[in-house]
Amino acid sequence: MSKQKFKTEVTKLLDIVINSLYSEKYIFLRELISNASDACDKLRYYSLTNPGIVKNNGEFKITITPNAEENTLTVSDNGIGMNKDDLVHHLGTIAKSGTAEFVNNAKDNGSIVDLIGKFGVGFYSAFMVASKVEVTTRRAGEEQAWLWTSNGVDGFEITEAKRDKVGTDIKLYLKDDAKDYVDTIYLRHIIRTYSDHINYPIVLDLGKAGEETVNTGSALWTKNKADITDEQYNEFYHHISRNFDTPWLRLHFKAEGNIEYTGLLYIPSEAPYDLFQPDRQQSLKLYVNRVFISDKVEGLMPAYLRFVKGIIDSADLPLNISREMLQQNALIAKIKNGTVGRILKELKTRSEDYDDYMKFWKVFGIAFKEGIYEDVANREMVASLSRFYSTNDNERLTSLDEYISRVNEGQTNIYYITGDDVPTLRNNPQLEAFKAKGIEVLLLTDPIDEFWVQVLTNYKGYPIKHVSQADMDLKMERDTPRADEGSLKKLTDFMSELFKNEVGKVVATEKLTSSPVSLTVENGQMSIHLERLMRNHQQQTSFASSRILEVNPYHPLIIKLADSMFDKSQLLDQAKIAEGEAITDSSFFSEKLSDYILRGWQKSA
Ligand code: ADP
Ligand code: MG
Repeated sequence: MSKQKFKTEVTKLLDIVINSLYSEKYIFLRELISNASDACDKLRYYSLTNPGIVKNNGEFKITITPNAEENTLTVSDNGIGMNKDDLVHHLGTIAKSGTAEFVNNAKDNGSIVDLIGKFGVGFYSAFMVASKVEVTTRRAGEEQAWLWTSNGVDGFEITEAKRDKVGTDIKLYLKDDAKDYVDTIYLRHIIRTYSDHINYPIVLDLGKAGEETVNTGSALWTKNKADITDEQYNEFYHHISRNFDTPWLRLHFKAEGNIEYTGLLYIPSEAPYDLFQPDRQQSLKLYVNRVFISDKVEGLMPAYLRFVKGIIDSADLPLNISREMLQQNALIAKIKNGTVGRILKELKTRSEDYDDYMKFWKVFGIAFKEGIYEDVANREMVASLSRFYSTNDNERLTSLDEYISRVNEGQTNIYYITGDDVPTLRNNPQLEAFKAKGIEVLLLTDPIDEFWVQVLTNYKGYPIKHVSQADMDLKMERDTPRADEGSLKKLTDFMSELFKNEVGKVVATEKLTSSPVSLTVENGQMSIHLERLMRNHQQQTSFASSRILEVNPYHPLIIKLADSMFDKSQLLDQAKIAEGEAITDSSFFSEKLSDYILRGWQKSA
């Protein structure tokens, strides 16, 4: 067979891996052992559903064979193996789409080591130490074995081969500067440091001296907490999450009761690159009595907690259940509920230290807030763990409970406003009377905020309301003149007619202090911000909600308008500009504006 080229993303990635991870070369061994362990997991699972296929009596092992004469190192496993198709698809491409793009974007910021972990380019790290790699492999259930060869530069070749048993050998021809990797003392050290927890025996082949099992080999989560070091916990986290950071939170627990299970969970300290992918898949690994079943059991963790990494192991689940059946299993739902409860409780404790909690919140808060919308059962708890910008403080985020602790006497609602960014929101005319009365307003800028405010309408007895729903709470004693009621009515009627194609109605408001006008929407209608979001995503092209143009009866301009004729079209435009909206006829607007400025200037001149 002639040589096949790597996909371009592979070439690019290889280049980064080989040249950037120079000081971390030893990670290649961890990666290959990790793959071997995955392959054993897969075969073990496969044998549960296809009995009779696996002929190793369930004795899985990973063998490391250094050869000082040849200068080679071989990592072998008796796992699932690969056929020709698998070799082409798994070792010739990078499985996860969008990886190349991500590498390009992220190359400049963030450590390369982190990146490598995030998209699991594991196998390619072999080329950091090898000038040539040979993969001899035979897939479970098939007779033909295959040899995949590559120098890691331009491509690979696949030819027929022989292998007595199912499994894979990865043979590395070590580069001159990587000869350390035939040294058994060094090998033993890196295996113990980085792969100790691997669930299968890792055996070092010492040639004439026989074989030696190097790792402890017991599933880490089955041990007592007191017997596990931080290093072991972190190593395990790196293995299952493929991240390199130090996790922000670790939770190791055993649940007892009518269903028993163990959990070892982590919250990373850095966001994964796929946090906002549309599939929002959780990735906890499910084990049944230490046998790996799947990391795609949707019901195991709600989507808003998809960033939680780790494992759940329960002996109470049936072993040979199909993944599809698992999804529906009532026990899975129980495990989920219990686990989510523990995570939220732990977050509650950690939230007491503001600075510490912000490390979590800044990274995962946007995803976490989806839970207010999504997790009906824990809605209030998730809300209480959420943090928001508010008019109370320029820097510090607030919780809803802190907000409540500061409400004014007689204030009955929690108020919020939504928009694109915090600084613009702070200047929104809708907030003028709130400022004047010292009423705090939450400043919400994430798209998800538009959704949760529709379902969390009340928090601990305080209705949550958009600022546009606040007229009653904002009654103010004013000593400035107000437009005469009768002419004000005439003005708003006139304006309603004039702008009837653009706004639903025109009303007087008590909310404004310094602006003459402001745009808002009818109660319960889609907010202007949400409309804009949807328009940006081409979800919708015309206004769905009907706008309200509010006029400030205390503003000199409105007072004047109320009893004189004036060019009123600019008022709507002014309101739109304050909202950050595009105005319909901007040249007309600026002409008018210049006109007024000129008039004002002539007067004062
Ligand atoms: P990842 O482990 O994140 O999937 P890798 O680059 O480490 O990425 O491996 C790519 C793929 O190659 C694996 O997903 C697996 O399908 C296949 N593979 C690698 N090593 C082995 C092995 N020892 N046995 C079977 N399949 C393997
Ligand atoms: Mg891997």
